[in-house]
Amino acid sequence: MDPKIWLSSPHMGGKELHYIHDAFDANWVAPLGPNVNGFEADIAAFLNANVQIAALSSGTAALHLALIECGVGYGDEVICQSMTFSASANPIAYQGATPVFVDSEPETWNICPKALRKAIVDRIAKGKKPKAIVAVHLYGMPFRVDEVLAVADEFAIPLIEDAAEALGSTYKGKACGTFGRFGVLSFNGNKIITTSGGGALVCRTQADKEKAVFLATQARDEAPHYQHSHIGYNYRMSNICAGIGRGQMEVLGDRVQARRAMYDFYKTFFKDIVGVTVLTEPSADYYANHWLSAIVMDPEKVGRTREDLRLAFLADNIESRPLWKPMHMQPVFADAPYYGENVAQELFANGLCLPSGSNLTETERERITTVLQRFFQ
Ligand SMILES: *Cc1c(COP(=O)(O)O)cnc(C)c1O
Repeated sequence: MDPKIWLSSPHMGGKELHYIHDAFDANWVAPLGPNVNGFEADIAAFLNANVQIAALSSGTAALHLALIECGVGYGDEVICQSMTFSASANPIAYQGATPVFVDSEPETWNICPKALRKAIVDRIAKGKKPKAIVAVHLYGMPFRVDEVLAVADEFAIPLIEDAAEALGSTYKGKACGTFGRFGVLSFNGNKIITTSGGGALVCRTQADKEKAVFLATQARDEAPHYQHSHIGYNYRMSNICAGIGRGQMEVLGDRVQARRAMYDFYKTFFKDIVGVTVLTEPSADYYANHWLSAIVMDPEKVGRTREDLRLAFLADNIESRPLWKPMHMQPVFADAPYYGENVAQELFANGLCLPSGSNLTETERERITTVLQRFFQ
């Protein structure tokens, strides 16, 4: 059998080991050091906005700290896009708070501003104003930033922007991750760039960053002994991982171009195929990194389901995957309130993520094309 083609696999640039060697030479084998500082500076420069970066052990940790800094605590409610990876919602539960899930809208597949507003109005009427909103740029597609921010501002609720999949995406020319009170990035192994595992919190102020770093390093008060007046976490990024990150930042621009080329490849293939829609920017305001290329298939028009296509890929040792199963459909969140209709549910029923790696070769693309041609002829 031909070798496996992955949905999205790590793609090193070449300089990563150089930064790791520096760390070894200076014995900065610790969760702090020059690579951590350098990586944070590289990210801030790339985002090209007045932001401060805290490099952390994961995107999930970044979300957790963002919620803490927004004052989310036991018994609170936090609005969260339903169609997302569970890591967007789990930290709400870590805080003893309740997620209130909101449906997507059909163009960006991200949080529907109308359903969001309805949810807030109803939660307030029921006695609790949500403490924060978690909106997600799924698959690197920016959500409706202006409309979502307008709702957040109307009710003075802080927006936490889950940009874990959207490093390199922009909305109206501004980087995703820089719109919310906090932004969240992930450098997990499957993301557009990786540190093997890692994340970052994008902060608006130096004070917010300092608080994040304080909480991420066990919340030690200033004292010669170990003194604590807050619960702390061990969430800082290691200087070794940050070395990988520095190497990856040097090729991030290329990685975005390569992912977008994969999107163009699928867009071209599906141009004349009835019943298949590729996730596409709704207007020139949106610029997606196309971390994953994804389609929805109308089973009536195609005559077969997305599961049939997934199995056809699998038979040739090619990985593809259904879209995120909405959180309001997950057993673990069965009791959480939900606002919306069945947009996210239908996307899940008919959607599939296709191999999208920046490192796919011409031969691998030919294998993908062969499966698609056989399936859709
Ligand atoms: C990957 C991801 C996260 C979590 O990031 P980790 O670094 O894996 O903890 C959060 N939200 C979304 C949408 C993600 O895709």
